[in-house]
Amino acid sequence: MTVHKVMILGTGPAGLTAAIYAARANLHPVIVEGNEPGGQLTLTTEVENFPGFPEGIMGPELMDNMRKQAEHFGASFVNGWVSGVDLSQRPFTVKVNEVDEYQAEALIVSTGASAKMLGIPGEAEMVGRGVSTCATCDAYFFRNKKVVVVGGGDSALEEATFLTKHAAEVTIVHRRSELRASKVMQDRARSNPKIKWALNVNPVSVQSDGKRVTGLEVKDNATGESRVLTTDGVFVAIGHRPNTDFLQATLDLDAIGYIRTRGVTTATSVAGVFACGDVMDPHYRQAITAAGSGCKAALDVEKFLEGAATLDWSTSTVAHA
Ligand code: NAP
Repeated sequence: MTVHKVMILGTGPAGLTAAIYAARANLHPVIVEGNEPGGQLTLTTEVENFPGFPEGIMGPELMDNMRKQAEHFGASFVNGWVSGVDLSQRPFTVKVNEVDEYQAEALIVSTGASAKMLGIPGEAEMVGRGVSTCATCDAYFFRNKKVVVVGGGDSALEEATFLTKHAAEVTIVHRRSELRASKVMQDRARSNPKIKWALNVNPVSVQSDGKRVTGLEVKDNATGESRVLTTDGVFVAIGHRPNTDFLQATLDLDAIGYIRTRGVTTATSVAGVFACGDVMDPHYRQAITAAGSGCKAALDVEKFLEGAATLDWSTSTVAHA
């Protein structure tokens, strides 16, 4: 079996930036695309805060550009998702789509994070029939209808604001009275006449007629009483969880499942395995920080394959040559 120098798992901004750097370093990276090629930015519209695009750029276009840039320098792509890894010895083994096996001297894990669900009755059954985690993808289906958005962070308010372009009314449902979202997002949402608020309530169940969503049952935290918000759609925007299930505890993860990296490096608990982007970053979670950490991962891999002369992988220190 061919042993690749480096395989990169995931094609968001972290993975593709790692691919560009690794390809330019003649490491001939092989990148596994994953379930959501291009990552979360392919689910957004305009990206206004990625440096270098004064007029903004559409998320899918930005990711397409990054992919073309990686291909231009010789990166190759495998269509599929990583179903398992064997990190017990080098070269490491990567299983794709549960059947195909690949081997590599070093790995960069950049599998990102996925939308969290509420886990309430009715929710899973109605995904795609009124329950959604992506306003950008599904807002169009709710033209002139009533929808709710669950969550009080930036994502929820961004989704709600976007939904007002299509929906007649958007109600933000949040479990506390205070929002977590940034002030600018709050101001934008509060000044939007189409946005209503249901604060300090917890979602209890998604109601439907069997075919479509008809309502969201919520419990008022102050009074303890339940009521049903009539709605055609429920957009869940309560954050994300890292995509690390396939690792099956082969790497050191935190309590939530984010990969722990060492100090300022992208090194993980296994020598030769590096992590970047949202899969190891529960804090910043921006496209640009993911891209930056992808660059670091490729540079770390390069050093590692050279013999790791300047990096002490076992501690959090980086020796500057
Ligand atoms: P987040 O900041 O973690 O917010 C998640 C929200 O969902 C919180 O309000 C949380 O409530 C609520 N929530 C969590 N679990 C829940 C549950 N089981 N039931 C009901 N509500 C639940 O996640 P995010 O909004 O996705 O943002 C993630 C990061 O990306 C943040 O750093 C954010 O600033 C950034 N972001 C930035 C932009 C932008 O600048 N354009 C856009 C989107 C995201 P509590 O508040 O009570 O915990």
